[in-house]
Amino acid sequence: MLILIFYISVFFIGLAFGSFLNCVVYRLYKKRSLWGRSQCPHCKKTIVWHDNIPLLSFLVLRRRCRYCHKVISWQYPFIELVMGLLFVFSIWQLNNQLSIISYQFSVPTLAEYAGFILSIFKDWVVFFTLVFIFVYDIKYLKIEDIVLLPATGIVIALSVIIAQLPGSSVFVALGHSVSKFVVFKNLGLAMVIPVVFFVLQYILTKGKGVGLGDVRIGLFMGAALGIWYNVVIALFFAYIIGAIISGILLIQKKKTIKSQIPLGPFLAIGTLIAYLYSQQIINWYFL
Ligand SMILES: [Zn+2]
Repeated sequence: MLILIFYISVFFIGLAFGSFLNCVVYRLYKKRSLWGRSQCPHCKKTIVWHDNIPLLSFLVLRRRCRYCHKVISWQYPFIELVMGLLFVFSIWQLNNQLSIISYQFSVPTLAEYAGFILSIFKDWVVFFTLVFIFVYDIKYLKIEDIVLLPATGIVIALSVIIAQLPGSSVFVALGHSVSKFVVFKNLGLAMVIPVVFFVLQYILTKGKGVGLGDVRIGLFMGAALGIWYNVVIALFFAYIIGAIISGILLIQKKKTIKSQIPLGPFLAIGTLIAYLYSQQIINWYFL
């Protein structure tokens, strides 16, 4: 029962982060401050708190602004729900690992718990950034360094700290390492691979297939995934899914060969797949 209440609370934290993410996407594009109350994008009326509850208000208001009755975008509840589910998933996955260790060895120590809490925090920063890249690139065909670069720095710092904590020994199997030198070496290689890949593609396609924004997304991918083969898995899924979706859009004539289909959303999906499942994918493929 307690664990259920815990998961529901985590789900609500995820929803709140999703709501914040929607707000960041909108206000960054409009170049507005993050402080202050939200307004309806149509009638500019300030949204009262009880109309601003993630997911719930959307259902209660039946997709429309209380004042001007204009339709609210599906993006809002969708992003909130995705974040809620990802947050729950990260805790659930870690809880599974935690029960495996307590079963096999002993009760985790305080330092091990610190490692777990920091890795949950890292998961959340990674999810937030990937979902941000996904939405922002689809909507506005660009990325914002003000989100991407600090996120890259935070993820690198967390990876290095987590690897120093005793709990990290369980992460060895997940591609994390205990030695500081090895962490830096792995991170460096993981960040160089996508950058070289994108720069080559940029030169070969004369800047048509990939943008310089994608190169910076590549740095974040490397930082988040931490090890080179995870990056290869992420790129593989990004390009396969990208090709399928582009094919569908071309057949439906929603896009032409010349129109721009952003790469960022696919990189975000590929990175998420590799972040959550790279170990399972490797085990399944090689064993
Ligand atoms: Zn309105």
